[in-house]
Amino acid sequence: MPHVVVLGGSIAGLAATRALRGQGLAVTVVEPDGLATTGARGGVPQGGQLHALLDMGRTQAERWFPGLSKDLVADGAVLGSGDEIRLYENGTRKVSVPGNELIGVSRTLLEDHIRRRTVLDDGVSVRVGRACGLDIRGGRVTGVRVRTAGSAEVAVVPCDAVVDATGRSSRLPSWLAAEGWPEPPADRMRIDLGYATARFRRGGELPGVTVAHQLPAAAGAAEQSDTGAMAAVEGDQWMAVIVAYAERRPSRDPAEFLRRMREMEAAPFGVVADRCAMIGEVETYRMAHSLRRNWWALDRLPGGLFVAGDAVASFNPVYGQGMTSAFLHASCLAAHLRKGADLHAPAHAYFRHVRVVVDAAWEVSTLSDLAQPHVTGPYPQGYRMARRMADWMARASTTDAWVNERFLDVVNMRRRPAALRTPEFWWRVAAALRAQAAQPGR
Ligand SMILES: Cc1cc2nc3c(=O)[nH]c(=O)nc-3n(C[C@H](O)[C@H](O)[C@H](O)COP(=O)(O)OP(=O)(O)OC[C@H]3O[C@@H](n4cnc5c(N)ncnc54)[C@H](O)[C@@H]3O)c2cc1C
Repeated sequence: MPHVVVLGGSIAGLAATRALRGQGLAVTVVEPDGLATTGARGGVPQGGQLHALLDMGRTQAERWFPGLSKDLVADGAVLGSGDEIRLYENGTRKVSVPGNELIGVSRTLLEDHIRRRTVLDDGVSVRVGRACGLDIRGGRVTGVRVRTAGSAEVAVVPCDAVVDATGRSSRLPSWLAAEGWPEPPADRMRIDLGYATARFRRGGELPGVTVAHQLPAAAGAAEQSDTGAMAAVEGDQWMAVIVAYAERRPSRDPAEFLRRMREMEAAPFGVVADRCAMIGEVETYRMAHSLRRNWWALDRLPGGLFVAGDAVASFNPVYGQGMTSAFLHASCLAAHLRKGADLHAPAHAYFRHVRVVVDAAWEVSTLSDLAQPHVTGPYPQGYRMARRMADWMARASTTDAWVNERFLDVVNMRRRPAALRTPEFWWRVAAALRAQAAQPGR
């Protein structure tokens, strides 16, 4: 049976593992933390931050781990829908979208469930260690060099193919360069983003609310305000995150966290700050830049090489697209193999497929980031017009459910950004803005 080594046992690696197992391949997962740990772990330093699993991500997660949502809810996760999900744009609550669903679950519980299911599969073996290079012979990957945890010893794990899912700090480009292969060209956008997450005891203070999200301020807003999200999660808790940029990045100070929650224009944040006890400490995370590695631009690629998840691209997480992208990459991998692709051949077609997912997420997040005064590009062609249109669309989506649904479809990765460029869409945006103008006191 062909054997694939998956590097990284987090969301992207474990989703890829399922996709490979679905094609009857044997898989070894190489992971420094192993797969037996539960809760917070060193390999995923962002694990304590609030993670939203978008609707599309949940659909994809169900594909790879059937019954996952049900199991999570049984463990205390909270599935909200329609009016229970409150989105705020410039202080105004947006109209609800009836079919919209979002599951409130901590990143650690989600990962625990996925890991538990993976280790039950006899076709998956786990190697506790850290990958540190590739063996490439005859134009294809033939093995992975792995340093065993707690030792300096490096062993080679032979394989037919490898999936790099080691996250945004992936060293794969330099491993390839060391073997005389080209590195992928990369796009970097400096965002200087700060995240701070805290947990609160949850009672009956916000009946009918499971999620609140204060979206990023529109371009040219007079004052930079915080972005924030909060979700009802397992353990009868709220998880709340405050997101801000550059010198406004939030600190670990609980008093500052509570003050900033109270200052949010979205009312639920203030309610939780005033009425719920904070549990534990405020955890922070800093992200200097968004990064996209353009693997699809390479003419020369060793055979049997795949990359998935944040190792391909990681962007401003404020739109919550990272895990959904990782699940979608697994679908790209499954589709590639199902078509009968030779595992030993360069996977150009796989990367072209992944590009569609990456570019969609990149477009949504970077368009929003470029509105920040400290973000200085690179600007895509036609940026000024795109920015203006994004602001009109955001305003229209506060009152027009159809516009908001389309907008959420794109943010939730159910549709491509092109869905926001159709004449029908712009006709609806114009109508919504005209209706708003006719009610100036609104
Ligand atoms: C602050 C923050 C908030 C976020 N919020 C959201 C959100 O709301 N919604 C969302 O969908 N996404 C969010 N994300 C993104 C999300 O965390 C990632 O997209 C998601 O975890 C998929 O990542 P991954 O599996 O590719 O990599 P990671 O989750 O980063 O995991 C990488 C894995 O590789 C392992 N590893 C590292 N080096 C090696 C090596 N040399 N050999 C073997 N294994 C190795 C690590 O131990 C780890 O297990 C957020 C990210 C950040 C930083």
